Amino acid sequence: MSIKENLTNIKFGLPEKVKIVAVSKTKPNEDILLAYETGHKIFGENKVQDLVKKYEDLPKDIEWHFIGHLQTNKVKLIAPFISLVHAVDSLKLLRKLNSEAKKNNRKINCLLQMHIADETTKFGLNKNEIKEILNFDEYKSFNNIQISGLMGMATYTDDKNQIKDEFKFLKTFFDEIKRDFFANSSYFKEISMGMSGDYKIAIEEGSTMVRIGSKIFGLRNY
Ligand SMILES: *Cc1c(COP(=O)(O)O)cnc(C)c1O
Repeated sequence: MSIKENLTNIKFGLPEKVKIVAVSKTKPNEDILLAYETGHKIFGENKVQDLVKKYEDLPKDIEWHFIGHLQTNKVKLIAPFISLVHAVDSLKLLRKLNSEAKKNNRKINCLLQMHIADETTKFGLNKNEIKEILNFDEYKSFNNIQISGLMGMATYTDDKNQIKDEFKFLKTFFDEIKRDFFANSSYFKEISMGMSGDYKIAIEEGSTMVRIGSKIFGLRNY
């Protein structure tokens, strides 16, 4: 099937409040434009250099999301235009995002990445680390970032129950953080969870944002 058909099929039947981030990493501009022609505007990349190049070459009304591990020394390259940083996993990165956003006279939306998988290779914060950041006085002075929710990646496994439990864990913790830290902040509303292989489970468990790559653009070679 074509990129356009893939995207249309995924959108069909998706709850209205669930946004799709079309993960276009490693894919050429022609592929992105095919998706864009269906009216889709949200794309995700995980390499700063690739993202900057695509941002320069492609229509300016695309909303770019950074979905990978972001190094602090590269924040300045995307700070002028990035819409959402999905995987903030340290206070140091948050501090850098705030200072670079300030230089650009804008506010950058961020999600804190929570470690929910049983794999040690995936980045992310645990419950205590997230609470520590939100309780820290310095965080309260970050006026140029907005934490709009949490993000997580489930274990890469065929065990659907395990995936379900991991997403449930993230949703439960999101509710707790919302209650304790963001009760009056309507912007704290996103739960970014679910990829090509597990997005249906993620939506059942309360995802508001699914990051889908191969199911739209086809398998990646690398
Ligand atoms: C690559 C990637 C995706 C998309 O993966 P698919 O399985 O191709 O849908 C989603 N989230 C993150 C963080 C990724 O790096």
